[in-house]
Amino acid sequence: MFELREHAPSSARNTYKEYMKQLARQWKDGTPPAAACQDMRRTLELRREHCKSLGLTVQQQFRGIKQKHPGVTSLSYDDNVFVNHILSDNKQMTTRISSAKGVIFDRTENVGLSVVLQQPKNGVTPPPDMPASCPQCGAPSTLAQLENGCPYCKTHFLMDDLYPKVTNYFVQRHYDTDKKRSLRRLFICMAVFVILFLALIPFYDRSPVPLGEPSIIGSVFAGIFLGAALWGMAKFLSYLYHIFGKGLRGLGKVGRSLFFRFRIKDIDPTFSSEHFRDRAMHLFRIVAHSDDPTIYTACRCSRPKNWDHVIDSSLFNFGVDRFRIRGQQCTVTITLYLDCLVYKRGRVKLRAKKVHMTLQKEITAPTALGFSVRAVSCPSCGGSFDAEQVKHCPYCGNEYDLMKHDWILTNIR
Ligand SMILES: [Zn+2]
Ligand SMILES: [Zn+2]
Repeated sequence: MFELREHAPSSARNTYKEYMKQLARQWKDGTPPAAACQDMRRTLELRREHCKSLGLTVQQQFRGIKQKHPGVTSLSYDDNVFVNHILSDNKQMTTRISSAKGVIFDRTENVGLSVVLQQPKNGVTPPPDMPASCPQCGAPSTLAQLENGCPYCKTHFLMDDLYPKVTNYFVQRHYDTDKKRSLRRLFICMAVFVILFLALIPFYDRSPVPLGEPSIIGSVFAGIFLGAALWGMAKFLSYLYHIFGKGLRGLGKVGRSLFFRFRIKDIDPTFSSEHFRDRAMHLFRIVAHSDDPTIYTACRCSRPKNWDHVIDSSLFNFGVDRFRIRGQQCTVTITLYLDCLVYKRGRVKLRAKKVHMTLQKEITAPTALGFSVRAVSCPSCGGSFDAEQVKHCPYCGNEYDLMKHDWILTNIR
């Protein structure tokens, strides 16, 4: 079910704005964003710890920019209980990364920032026994328990405190919008050619073709002209690469992705590509940022040894490589096309990254947008617990099969 809306509900818009500030604060002092769901908080926390272990301090800020068509645009998808809104707006993003040696990355650019927000559908009240994590202490609980006061930290919550919450976010980098950096490059190009031409003056009389009288002013002008021309050409080529090289990533897989969607909807009519994409991105972040992802029940593979350290990642596109559906068992291999900030040999660079992931799920129940592995309800005894790191229900001891509820990761490269 897909719906294009002119205006997102104002509560969702406020949460979008609030989340920007919380995100900057999380980088700064580690305060988990109150607007984010527990799964999102976990990956943000892992990311910050990962940077800290590398000796890096990251600061990131978003500012509003002047634009022709202001305001947030939104797109929605839903299940029986929840609706997820994707709110997008253009922002100015500043990222500054420092190591012990000082600032090693400093960039201000215009980006498209999209946030996925979840809230109960209009007129629908989520069931009171629905598992949910306490936003205060993270303990697994149910909606009814949270409204009556969390059993662990005793905080009381209203439905309005619990929703809307952020389940994912994306940063879409526009074509090289760092004007300062661009001008610096133009200046370097011109300076190099001016110096080159001036250095060549003493050799004019040895040239096989007559060059006329050497002139300092002439050399300076020629250097400026050639430097600017080459800078313009390089900029044009990088623009072509941005549009046709990077901009078309994943296009070849559209047919297969649509076929996968069509086939899987046979067994789960509520399947949502957006939700699947959010899940894949969540699993990628867990692998990219934790020392040992196998401690999480959803990850059955380690981080490839040849990976560079990922500081930050954003999904550009994804596509299905191949899939197999046998009965209810579904195995799918996908490619994520990402834009990542990677840390390598003391430097941080923006790199396009291609990641292949194999995901598995046993499709026994409709897609539940509100599902989180951090608060599940045991199918045998009904107890709520965190299934992220334990395989067995702490109340009745029965094994909890995560694959029946959500996608798990079996391979990544
Ligand atoms: Zn609590
Ligand atoms: Zn149980």
